[in-house]
Amino acid sequence: MVETIPPRSGAGFRLPKGAELTVIDPQGCQVSDLLAFNADDLREVISSGRTLDYASRLYLTTGDPLYSNRSNVMLSILEDTVGRHDFLLTPCSKDTFRIIYGDTDPHRGCFGNLAAALQPYGVEPDMIPTAFNCFMNVPIDGATGTFTVEPPLSKAGDFIRFRAEMDLVIGLTACSALQSNGGSFKPIQYRIDAGPAA
Ligand SMILES: [Zn+2]
Repeated sequence: MVETIPPRSGAGFRLPKGAELTVIDPQGCQVSDLLAFNADDLREVISSGRTLDYASRLYLTTGDPLYSNRSNVMLSILEDTVGRHDFLLTPCSKDTFRIIYGDTDPHRGCFGNLAAALQPYGVEPDMIPTAFNCFMNVPIDGATGTFTVEPPLSKAGDFIRFRAEMDLVIGLTACSALQSNGGSFKPIQYRIDAGPAA
């Protein structure tokens, strides 16, 4: 069954080991922040630093594993129709909108949405790491290290599919930052499949 995350909101759910999670961009040009926690010990979390270190590459796609802070593989990317995602930038937040956009009454952003969606599972805001930002397009100048946030390359119906390599608690958003999403807020969809029997 396909679930829909409305614009500027988030969801939390369990993803058992072996199950497959497909994150779908139904309209195109929309980012989705993904977090993963070990369901049996929430102190083990998805780690941008370890994953990028082991990949020796900033852009991850089909075949790449996503590691935890304890260097265990949490998720594997099985299929990816876009090939451009970000794993450098933290979830957008009240402070993102205050500091970058100058908003005086800022939206709580992906950070606030993730904190609310994961609170029932025992995740506290300070436990939230850098998310794997599905479809987020952050080109980097190799000489200077300068980067910009550009509209996603995803078209309507594009998706990325992961397999859980341990029992996980997942947080997932439809991102709330104008810059990340080409100037408009759209929904995100996801689907959970049992995966092939072990
Ligand atoms: Zn966001």
